[in-house]
Amino acid sequence: MHDTQQTIVTDQPVFDVTEIRKQFPILHQEVNGRPLVYFDNAATTQKPLAVIQALDHYYEHDNANIHRGIHTLAERATAAFEQTRRTVKSFINAAEAEEVIFTKGTTDGINLVATAYGRKFIQAGDEVIISAMEHHSNIVPWQMLCEEKQGILKVIPVDENGELLLDQFEQLLTDRTKIVSLVYASNSLGTINPVKKVIDMAHQAGAVVLIDGAQATAHLDIDVQKLNCDFFVFSSHKIFGPTGTGILYGKRRLLEKMPPYQGGGEMIKNVSFEKTTYNDIPYKFEAGTPNIADVVAMREAINFIQQTGKPAIATHEQQLLAYATSALENIPGLKIIGRAKEKVSVVSLIIDGIFHFDIGQMLDARGIAIRTGHHCTQPLMEQYGIEGTARASFSVYNTMEEVDNLIEGLHRIIKMMKR
Ligand code: PLP
Repeated sequence: MHDTQQTIVTDQPVFDVTEIRKQFPILHQEVNGRPLVYFDNAATTQKPLAVIQALDHYYEHDNANIHRGIHTLAERATAAFEQTRRTVKSFINAAEAEEVIFTKGTTDGINLVATAYGRKFIQAGDEVIISAMEHHSNIVPWQMLCEEKQGILKVIPVDENGELLLDQFEQLLTDRTKIVSLVYASNSLGTINPVKKVIDMAHQAGAVVLIDGAQATAHLDIDVQKLNCDFFVFSSHKIFGPTGTGILYGKRRLLEKMPPYQGGGEMIKNVSFEKTTYNDIPYKFEAGTPNIADVVAMREAINFIQQTGKPAIATHEQQLLAYATSALENIPGLKIIGRAKEKVSVVSLIIDGIFHFDIGQMLDARGIAIRTGHHCTQPLMEQYGIEGTARASFSVYNTMEEVDNLIEGLHRIIKMMKR
């Protein structure tokens, strides 16, 4: 397993999945006449009752705008909002709560850094390095920045198995490399990248590093100080929390050097028509009324992960991944895309002669939700010479029986299509 992950190595159950499933009301329904099997967790995870109830509770009891009010509800809402910041701080082991900035999600966090840090520190001829397995949200903001500043975007290649070619990364690094932005775990291949190694190599070259933790944060132990990354971003909705909110972690030293991303209320100290002075971090980067209720409820998502235990969650998911992978390998005409040695619980596949979209539709008819398409990684799909894949991604509440359902479904689809 990866250097930052403390997975329990066992093939025995690590918790009672039935008990876990009781916490997720959405799972207890039929879709197209069959029990729902939700295997689209890399797109978004389902929400435990505690998160849903926290949203209700907030709107039923505490709703007010934060930071500016002196009345009781405003104080309660502010306290709940700031409590999440402290919870996130310990969850990712940031040195200070002020280094935790609330965003709309991963995409927003990357755009914030590309805009605020990038515009200030990238000059013509400077280089930004990403990898061939990035999500579009970790490609396009850097392309926009490089276009604007005449910077150079370089790409670390990925091999046939879906692993980064680190020796080629070393050759890409120069004294003009200013930013390296890398996905921790690939959403379309599952690959867990050796981010610590990449961060150390980039630092040696004098570059700062952003880690896209969208797919890693629900599965791997995240310690931003141990990683020594400069920025780390993730989305709440992929870690059992609400949509529309996420986190940008940044080192204080860098955040303080960056200009604001957006102007407005909350991010200022003092405004006059002649001059505005900006607020301290984190508020400098939180212009306007934030997504208060969802931030408050995000805390319950983190509590859920911590109570269940990340190592136990990771072990359960690795068991599902191993079970699914070996069953899929026995299906003639089926190819798994992404065979890295270390993977999160994502299996991308293609089947000879069957369009991925049809696989998705036919599985949906059996109540099984998977994702089909390019998964916002078009350049990667191009490298593999495919348009897209059918992707199943597993989470804490999935079961071996559900994997059996998927395998049986795929067998039936192949039989039907070959008739
Ligand atoms: N990065 C990766 C690796 C992702 O998987 C995703 C979403 O699927 C994103 C970034 C973008 O996340 P969001 O849409 O929550 O901003």
